[in-house]
Amino acid sequence: MNDILTPPPSPLPNTPDVRRAGAFLTIDLDALKTNWLTCDRQSADDVETAAVVKAAAYGLGAERAALALQSAGCKTFFVATIDEGIHLREVLGSGPAIHIFNGLMDGAERDFTHHQLTPVLNSLAEIDAWRAYCTGAGEAQPCDIHVDTGMSRLGLPDDELQKVIDDPDHLTHLKLDMILSHLSVSEITDHPKNAEQLAKFRQILVHMPPTRAAFANSSAIFLSPEYHFDVTRPGVALYGVNPTPGQPNPMAQVLRLQAKILQVRTIDTPQTVGYGATHTAQGCERIATVSLGYADGYRRNLSNSGVAYIGEYPAPVAGRVSMDLLTLDVSNVPEALCRPGTLVDLIGPHNPVDDVAERAGTIGYELLTGLGTRFHRVYLDSET
Ligand SMILES: *Cc1c(COP(=O)(O)O)cnc(C)c1O
Repeated sequence: MNDILTPPPSPLPNTPDVRRAGAFLTIDLDALKTNWLTCDRQSADDVETAAVVKAAAYGLGAERAALALQSAGCKTFFVATIDEGIHLREVLGSGPAIHIFNGLMDGAERDFTHHQLTPVLNSLAEIDAWRAYCTGAGEAQPCDIHVDTGMSRLGLPDDELQKVIDDPDHLTHLKLDMILSHLSVSEITDHPKNAEQLAKFRQILVHMPPTRAAFANSSAIFLSPEYHFDVTRPGVALYGVNPTPGQPNPMAQVLRLQAKILQVRTIDTPQTVGYGATHTAQGCERIATVSLGYADGYRRNLSNSGVAYIGEYPAPVAGRVSMDLLTLDVSNVPEALCRPGTLVDLIGPHNPVDDVAERAGTIGYELLTGLGTRFHRVYLDSET
């Protein structure tokens, strides 16, 4: 509870001052590094473990996350958009490889080469455009090719792939770094689609020029070594989400979300709490109002279903989550522990990301990437 009095080790310049902040997001970079090493150890020594840091490292902050991963030994990063890549290049310097999942946009070719970014080419048109650009520039620049093995989202569909195989000229003068594909149900270990996509990917690789292959996201790293190929690309597991749902979480928790109690009231006669009057305090109920709401990413469908913790004590969300506030039933929490200024765990040791996401009817990915910007952020890192 004295977190609130301790000056933060490394606040971002644009996060609210520690004294004024109503909510705190603590990001444990040591846990992040541990998680990358845990992923890395799942595969053989000659398999490279990259890191996916798209969407601001799943909401945790791309700069600090990527620097921490780099210090843990990560040399290859994936982001979704070219602007994420440009920003990451500034942060990481010229050493690491940065790959852009969402591919080549018409007219953006020079931005890729200027910032040393590797496009993941997702269609025949992108392949031809990159080849033409590189030919014009007089030098082949690295690129990846994404083939669709069953996701039907990005990557060369079967007919375009067949054209590439029939006419290998499409690939001449390309400096191909990786061929990649993406699994659609890797978190369900016994789903037949995993083996189907694996067989298809292998079949495709036979017809492609020899180069590195990358297939595994977080969950696939834990499926079996067959899925590892040359490069793995974990995302969500790095940030503490369980890549093996239904089994114990092998990852360390990275994130803690806390908010201050603003006010506590005792309701003696039956009275409703919050918008919509969806909770009725029956009398002799204590309600704590907390400085966090759905605008901060604490989702509204946690109304009457979320559980916060004050120390070891659970405090259920009572009534609707509103934009900037939520109300907790703290009747069973010792009074001395719930005073204005006390910090409450919304995501923490007793209510990790996966549990909160499940209660909210969503997944850890969405919960993390939906976290807002009004927190005072604290990055814990034993190295700095
Ligand atoms: C987001 C993404 C990943 C990372 O997936 P996780 O499930 O978060 O590990 C890997 N590959 C592609 C193509 C992605 O879009």
